Amino acid sequence: MSKVPEMFGSMVFNDKKMQERLPKSTYRALKKTVQDGEPLDISVANVVAAAMKDWAIELGCTHYTHWFQPMTGVTAEKHDSFIQPNGDEVIMEFSGKELIKGEPDASSFPSGGIRATFEARGYTTWDPTSPAFVRDGTLYIPTAFCSYTGEVLDKKTPLLRSMERMSYEAVRILHLLGKTDVSRVTTTVGPEQEYFLIDRDLYERREDLKLCGRTLFGAKAPKGQELDDHYFGSIKTRVAAFMKDLDEELWKLGVLAKTKHNEVAPSQHELAPIFTTSNIANDHNELTMEIMRKTAEKHNLVCLLHEKPFAGVNGSGKHNNWSLTTNTGENLLNPGKRPEDNLTFLLFLTAVVKAVDEYQDLLRATVASAGNDHRLGANEAPPAIMSVYLGDDLGEMVQAIIDGEDYVSHGKERMRTGVDVLADFKKDTSDRNRTSPFAFTGNKFEFRALGSALNIGCPNYMLNTMVAEELSQFYVELKGAENMDAAVRSLVKNVLTEHQRIIFNGDNYTDEWVEEAQRRGLYNLKSLPEAFAHFMDKKNVNLFVKNKIVTEAEYRARYEIELETYCKQINIEALTMIDMAKKNITPAVTAFVRQLTETALAKKALSAAIPTSVEEDLIMSLSNKLVCFVKKTGELEDAVIRANDYAGDQLAHATYFRETVFALMQELRAVGDAMETETAADFWPYPSYTELLFGV
Ligand code: ADP
Ligand code: MG
Repeated sequence: MSKVPEMFGSMVFNDKKMQERLPKSTYRALKKTVQDGEPLDISVANVVAAAMKDWAIELGCTHYTHWFQPMTGVTAEKHDSFIQPNGDEVIMEFSGKELIKGEPDASSFPSGGIRATFEARGYTTWDPTSPAFVRDGTLYIPTAFCSYTGEVLDKKTPLLRSMERMSYEAVRILHLLGKTDVSRVTTTVGPEQEYFLIDRDLYERREDLKLCGRTLFGAKAPKGQELDDHYFGSIKTRVAAFMKDLDEELWKLGVLAKTKHNEVAPSQHELAPIFTTSNIANDHNELTMEIMRKTAEKHNLVCLLHEKPFAGVNGSGKHNNWSLTTNTGENLLNPGKRPEDNLTFLLFLTAVVKAVDEYQDLLRATVASAGNDHRLGANEAPPAIMSVYLGDDLGEMVQAIIDGEDYVSHGKERMRTGVDVLADFKKDTSDRNRTSPFAFTGNKFEFRALGSALNIGCPNYMLNTMVAEELSQFYVELKGAENMDAAVRSLVKNVLTEHQRIIFNGDNYTDEWVEEAQRRGLYNLKSLPEAFAHFMDKKNVNLFVKNKIVTEAEYRARYEIELETYCKQINIEALTMIDMAKKNITPAVTAFVRQLTETALAKKALSAAIPTSVEEDLIMSLSNKLVCFVKKTGELEDAVIRANDYAGDQLAHATYFRETVFALMQELRAVGDAMETETAADFWPYPSYTELLFGV
């Protein structure tokens, strides 16, 4: 297929194909379910299933799978063939029941203790709001996942519920504002995805990359990202071939892959799609990450999605561009020409500002992970302190509202290039502030603190729920107001005044901001255990329980799973380091020292006049470091064993991993990296940073 429009969505059972292949009444019934959330009848499901199967078989499918997003953070699938015995032969069958409900054994998926292992049953349920698609001879059916007793065990269900919540609250508010033609509001997301590409042969020789997705040892390369020559630089042939393949695979699956470029660090790249509804954006982002990995394999490359694969150069994040659209086509975060008179915009902006202030701790927790904690606050990603960036113009407007002063927006200025052949153009009203964790960027908010590997379901359901909650409070305050205009203005003024501490338009990377944020009373939660210490705060639990997103037990389960995963990840990293240290690094340095010693002795035997100071100095230096290295390896081993003492209390357990195990890992690494710089390349057991970062 050569033409992109033909290729696009060719592997998706999308609206167009449903129209073509379903009887009109079935199509209409399904549409009602998708658009208005009406329950689906089994007779409708039977017809849809048969049409889906015929279409999938035409594309060479033999199997189908329910595709779901358990709490592991990666997608899961279990393939069943379409075969059905028919005498001595088989026929290909797929029923409505099989489409609607699947029953994978749920016992090995994390449930945070809400379900005993013997209650292994779990159900997957078709999510008709995200279209089915075909990959590798299998029909994929996006589904939600819950336990036999109905507890939510996945990342999709809360997201779908939060979208419903948001729609309900936003529509109510819009009706108060006179926009009675609006019947549905959808949250939209465009996630920008960063990743690294490295050579597969080199990767295969790094135990740390294979087991942990990041390097645990590795001295800095002589060149890093200081010349800024990689950012937006011309794309290397091999990478370009990968990107072309990736785009085509994604387009076939209906993913709106739009922008691709080199990122800041050597070997780092980015892909941005065009935004769509949160649910589909989430499914598509999961698909994108998976197809990045698979496509890399074809090119003998490895795609690293870890947040911090290499020390000393930037790690990878995911910018979550987020907004709200009505069924009448209005973007509710579009300020328009005169934001100061755009009550809809003012009200939604105010709801977001209040939400970010009241739930700073949750927003921080939702992006916390063992990997992402390396980035936040390390001057490459937004700091661990949450704040909202509005830009100069909106910032001025908000200040005027708070001060009760008149404000007239400047409108867009013309940008004069000063060169006749270049066209003048209109400047954006807000500059990009790359340092802010939560930035207004023209007609959307960009939540920038997400790590590259994160499933975006969680930050989005939390964000949707907190903003919906604020809107619901606004509704209570506004309903029945005689003069709605005055009531909205007064509410906006009061709320912005109360929550202005969360607005910060300056450079988030400076020490002054850290001090200033402390004066303002903002949280600075540096690691996952610090953030999770607030996760179960009453106000946070209430938010989700009141809005019926998850129950308290389900919410607690999420808390336990995140803490447990964090401990497990650091435990695996520590064990990997110990393994590398004992089996490879120590023997390699010993061998090199032995060669130096033999050389020195041989030289001496030849003639006492030959200087051996070079060998002797190196032998001394490396031997001293090796003593320290072996001692620290032992300390780390002990620390890992002692972690068991904390196993009863998950927060204490995680805190121990952060403060003791992780701290010792850093110390061990420092000695290991120092030895690498003194050891002959032939002896060092692992490919160097220079090879890894500049090897493609
Ligand atoms: P920037 O240059 O500020 O990063 P872009 O226009 O390039 O902004 O968009 C970045 C991402 O934001 C893209 O994925 C884009 O689709 C997404 N985006 C744009 N508008 C919206 C919106 N209304 N809702 C959600 N995401 C959006
Ligand atoms: Mg961006």
